[in-house]
Amino acid sequence: MLKGSFNRLLVSVEEVRGIGPATAAKLRERRIETVEDALLFLPSRYQDRSRVTPIQELEPGAEALVRGRIAGIGRGRPGPRRMFSLEVDDETAVLQAAWFGLPGSQRFEKDQEIALFGRVDEYKGRPSMVHPEIVADLGDDSQAGGLVPVYRAIPGLCSKQFRKIVGTILERELGGLESPLSPALVREEGLLPLEKAFARVHFPLDEDDCSLSGRPRRSLIFTELFLFELGLALKRRARDETRAEPVPGFDRALSEVKALLPFELTGAQRRVIRELGSDLGGDRPMNRLLQGDVGSGKTVVAAVPLLAAALAGRQAVLMAPTELLARQHRAELSGLASGLGLEVELLTGSLDQGRADRCRAALARGEARLAVGTQALIQDGVGFRDLALAVIDEQHRFGVFQRSALAAKGRGVHLLALTATPIPRSLALTVYGDLDLSILDEKPAGRREPVTRILPSKRIERAWRAVRGAAAQGLQSYVVLPAVEPGQGLVSARERYADLKKRMPDLGIGLVHGRLDREEQAGVMERFASGELDVLVSTTVVEVGLDVPRAAVMVVENAERFGLAQIHQLRGRIGRGGSKAACLLISDDAGVGRDRLKVLENTGDGFLIAEEDLRLRGPGDMVGIRQAGWPEFRVADLMADPGLLARARKAAFGLVEKDPGLKMKEHRVLAGIVERRLRRSLALARSG
Ligand code: ADP
Ligand code: MG
Repeated sequence: MLKGSFNRLLVSVEEVRGIGPATAAKLRERRIETVEDALLFLPSRYQDRSRVTPIQELEPGAEALVRGRIAGIGRGRPGPRRMFSLEVDDETAVLQAAWFGLPGSQRFEKDQEIALFGRVDEYKGRPSMVHPEIVADLGDDSQAGGLVPVYRAIPGLCSKQFRKIVGTILERELGGLESPLSPALVREEGLLPLEKAFARVHFPLDEDDCSLSGRPRRSLIFTELFLFELGLALKRRARDETRAEPVPGFDRALSEVKALLPFELTGAQRRVIRELGSDLGGDRPMNRLLQGDVGSGKTVVAAVPLLAAALAGRQAVLMAPTELLARQHRAELSGLASGLGLEVELLTGSLDQGRADRCRAALARGEARLAVGTQALIQDGVGFRDLALAVIDEQHRFGVFQRSALAAKGRGVHLLALTATPIPRSLALTVYGDLDLSILDEKPAGRREPVTRILPSKRIERAWRAVRGAAAQGLQSYVVLPAVEPGQGLVSARERYADLKKRMPDLGIGLVHGRLDREEQAGVMERFASGELDVLVSTTVVEVGLDVPRAAVMVVENAERFGLAQIHQLRGRIGRGGSKAACLLISDDAGVGRDRLKVLENTGDGFLIAEEDLRLRGPGDMVGIRQAGWPEFRVADLMADPGLLARARKAAFGLVEKDPGLKMKEHRVLAGIVERRLRRSLALARSG
C-alpha cells in the first residue's frame, strides 16, 4: 500500500533488509526511526578514496588509501586493549597498521592483498596508521572507492556499517520515489529530483556533490524550506478567510490620544499607528508583530488601538509577562483612558479572590472594556463578551499556545504582539511566518544613549565608583551577573551582593534572581522601582520591561557570557529619565569575545546588534527565538543561504495562491505531507 509513494520514507528502519532490532535500537539513539530519518542523517564529510597512494609518498597527517601485500602479522600481549598489527608492503615501502582492543580480530594471511584507508602517522620513523578502515574489495564495491561519506558517530555502529544501511535503503526502498516539488520547480531552481538528491548526497559522483552548496544538498534544503513555508502559507490562507468585525472610529481615538500626550509621537510611531488603524478598519483579524528597540515607545503605540476599541464600545486587553510590568502598563494606560472617560481593569495572579471575581464578572458581562493583566488573563475562568483586540507585550516571553489562547477568548480577535527582540527581517519571516511585521526604528528625541565601556575585572573598582557616584546624585544602579550560585569560576549574584553590602554599607542594596518565588521577586523590584534601594544585584530577571527612570548605571559582570542582544536589552533599562547613563561591561575575555562586546561599545542600534549576534552565535542562541517557536530544521541552515529561504517562500506562497486546497493532481503528494504534519502537530498540541 505504501509502495511507489512518498510514504515510503515513513517506513520504519526495522523493515529495511539487513537491519535487525539491535541495529534499529542503536539508530534510535540518534533519533533515526524511519527511512527518511536515515536519509536525512547526512554525511558530515567525505573521504577521497579515488586514488591509491604509494606508501613511500604518504604524508603524515593526511588521509590516504594504500594497497599492498601483508608482509607480517603481529599480536600484542593479551588484555582488553590487545594490539593487533599488520605490515603492508606495496613494493615502494612498508606501512605498519595497528588496531587496539578490537573484538574478534579478523583472519588474515601472509601475502594476502589488502587495501586500507586511514590517517597517516609515523611510528619509529616509518609510516603507520592506527585503526585504518579495511576497505573490502576495491573495484567491484561501489562504496569502497571514490568519494566516501563519513557520518557523525552513532554509538555501536561504525561509519562503514551506516554507509551500508543507506546503500541498502537507496537501492531497495526508494525506487520511483515521488518528489514533493513539481518538475517545473525542480528545473527552475536547478535542483535534483528527491531520489537523486538523496543518492548523491550520500554517494557523491564528483566534488560538487560533496560541497555544502552542491546540488544534492541544496535540493534537500530547498525541499525542507519549501515544505515549511507551505505550512505557513496555508496557515495564513486560513487566517485570511476568517472574518473580523471592523473597529470604527480609529482616527478620532488617535487625535484624542494625541491631545492627551505630553510629547509628540515620533515619525515611526505615527507610521506604525497608521498600519494598525488600517488593520482594525479591515474585516480580517489583524495579526501583527511590532518590533521596536527598548525605549522606542511601543506602549503608547499599542495604547491607541486599545483605546479605539474601547471607545467603539467593544473590549480590548493587554497581557504582560510579569506582575510589575502589568501594573506599570495599567498606570500608563489609565492616564490616557481616564482622560477619555474609560477605566482600566487589572487582572493578575496576586489579586485577592474577591477582586479577581469582580473583575472576571465585569469582563464577562462586557462592563469592563479595557483590561491589563498577566497570564491570569488566559485562564479558563476568564471570558469576554465582545473581545475585539488582544495585545501581548514582550511576546517572546510567551509560548505560541499562550498567544493563541488569548486570541481564542473571542471570535475574529485582532492580535498585536510587541517585542524588543529585533530579529532581522529575513528571519522574522520564518519565525513569525504568518504575521505581518511593523517596525519602530526611531527613538523618541532627546533620549540619551548610555555610554558603554568594557573593563577588565582588575579595574572593577571603577564600576563601583560609578555606582557610588550615581547614588550620591540620587540615581540608581543595576549589577547583573550570569549565575546565582558560586561555581564555574564565576562570581555569583549572591557573592556580589554580600561583597557590595560590605563595600557600601551606607547604600540600600537588594538581590533578585529566578530562584526567589514570584512574590519575593516582585517585592524586591518594587523596592527598587520606588527608589528605596540604590543598587539592585540580579541575574537577567530584570531584563523585561522594568521602567525605573532614576536608574543610570548598569554593571554587567562576565559580560562575555551574555548574548549581545541580551545586554542591549539590559542597558535599555537605564537612562530612561534623561540623566546621563553608563553601562560597564566587565570581561577578561580577549580575542573574539572582546571583539563581540566591542559592537556594543560602538553602536546603539538594536537591529545591527541582533544581526551581529546572529552571525556570531547563530539563531539558536538569540534571546527569544526558541520560545518564539523557532522551527527545528534538519538540513537547512538559514544563515548559510537566506536567499534560498526567500525563494522557497515565494514558491510556496505562489502555489497556495494558485491551489489553496492543494486539490490539483500534481499537488497530491504535497497534500499528503501537509495532512500528515497537521495531524502530528495537533497530537503534539493536545499532549503538550
Ligand atoms: P518600549 O518600547 O521599550 O516598551 P516604552 O513604551 O516603555 O518603550 O517607552 C519608553 C518611555 O518613552 C516611556 O516613558 C514613554 O512614555 C516614553 N515615550 C514614548 N514615546 C515617546 C515620544 N514620542 N516622545 C517622548 N517620550 C516618549
Ligand atoms: Mg515595553
